Amino acid sequence: MRLQSWGRLTDYSVDARAIDSRFTATKQLNERPALSHGAGRSYGDVAISQSVWLTTNLDRFIAFDHKSGHLTVESGVLLGEIQRLFAPRGWMLPVTPGTQFVTVGGAIANDVHGKNHHSAGTFGEHVLSLTLARTDGTERNCSETENKQLFEATIGGLGLTGLITEATIKLKKVDGPWIDSETIPFRNLDEFFELSKDSETFEYSVAWFDCTSKSGHGVFTRGNHSSSTKPLKPNRPKNFPFTPPVSLINRVTLGLLNNAYLLLGVLTKGKKTIPFEPFFYPLDGIRHWNRAYGPKGFFQHQCVLPETAAKVALSELLKLIRKAKAGSLLAVLKTTGERDLPGLLSFGMKGVTLALDFPNHGEKTLTLLEELEEIVVKHGGRMNPSKDATMSPATFEAGYPNRETFLKHKDPGITSLFFERVIERKP
Ligand SMILES: Cc1cc2nc3c(=O)[nH]c(=O)nc-3n(C[C@H](O)[C@H](O)[C@H](O)COP(=O)(O)OP(=O)(O)OC[C@H]3O[C@@H](n4cnc5c(N)ncnc54)[C@H](O)[C@@H]3O)c2cc1C
Repeated sequence: MRLQSWGRLTDYSVDARAIDSRFTATKQLNERPALSHGAGRSYGDVAISQSVWLTTNLDRFIAFDHKSGHLTVESGVLLGEIQRLFAPRGWMLPVTPGTQFVTVGGAIANDVHGKNHHSAGTFGEHVLSLTLARTDGTERNCSETENKQLFEATIGGLGLTGLITEATIKLKKVDGPWIDSETIPFRNLDEFFELSKDSETFEYSVAWFDCTSKSGHGVFTRGNHSSSTKPLKPNRPKNFPFTPPVSLINRVTLGLLNNAYLLLGVLTKGKKTIPFEPFFYPLDGIRHWNRAYGPKGFFQHQCVLPETAAKVALSELLKLIRKAKAGSLLAVLKTTGERDLPGLLSFGMKGVTLALDFPNHGEKTLTLLEELEEIVVKHGGRMNPSKDATMSPATFEAGYPNRETFLKHKDPGITSLFFERVIERKP
């Protein structure tokens, strides 16, 4: 079948088959070693290999403890399904990324983060245990007390340690499905840093900013779970219906859309109580929005910069983007906290993450991405594998010092395009 990542850069021809159930997974993987593929929401090539196992059939809820909030599910269950089922009952995921169309297996394997990295860390911090099928035909239970190193290699392990069949995660107690949210426009990046500092007591915070402007003005959003228990109305997302022949995101539309978004931020500034979906997943409001970038697709650059270097590094990155006359519609900034990373290859460090989407203009875009990466490495930052399509082996090695320990736990029967392009090759 043809398989594409979220960035739609390449149309891969792969041998994809579905795991039948969690009871057959180990035997299937043993007979045909291949990489797990979840909901395909990674932007680059971490979920792509010549042979993949689709986990869509692993969609069962297995157990829930109403006292502790411990939930056991199969690995193909979508985060959105957990939220929809449990939020009205007073429980939610403790960490969730910017889309709900992500499987539990994918969330663990990329150790995803959300708008609350500073207060709750990454998804992996809330995984109590998991079951891993290996290509040698064994099944391993992994947790902090059992197969600890394999557990740490699997959280953020990019699917390379085996196929997660099920996992137990600790949900968070909430009153209901609403968020008390506040929107604050800011004039420049200094104001963003001040707002981030003032918002440390808020559970969630994130900022969008106009990376084409010299000032870096934008909109800051922060929030906490609300005490409202009102039921939610069903949410009907729109669909981006077709792939246009060329990217709809270009210099003209970018300026217009960025200005429109900023204006919206100014008009809607202030406090309001909103359902969790538009707060956590604003992009999910339009399904298949990635089609807007046309047949050539787009790249995402996501880096994390250490706190001490963040201001200087950010200004260098933005200067370069302006010089290249490139721009990103989705320029997202988020402060990240000081956490004990749960996975050997977990992305994240105390500082700031920056995420940018660039339409694919071939060599010109590749050169820009390479230069951005150089700035990140120079300042001691690292790139996010789940978003990446261009990282060099040297950048990976510099950012992920546990590479060698991780490789001891890798399943020798599993590979991915990302692994072959970035991890396996010595710089
Ligand atoms: C709109 C949008 C917003 C996003 N926002 C964020 C964000 O805020 N924070 C963030 O961290 N990420 C974010 N992401 C990235 C996304 O959350 C991750 O790429 C996520 O891991 C995708 O999960 P998936 O189920 O689609 O997995 P896939 O993309 O299919 O696979 C991801 C990795 O997980 C492995 N894998 C999948 N299932 C299993 C399994 N059962 N066992 C073992 N390995 C498995 C694959 O081999 C692959 O290496 C965003 C993506 C989109 C499209």
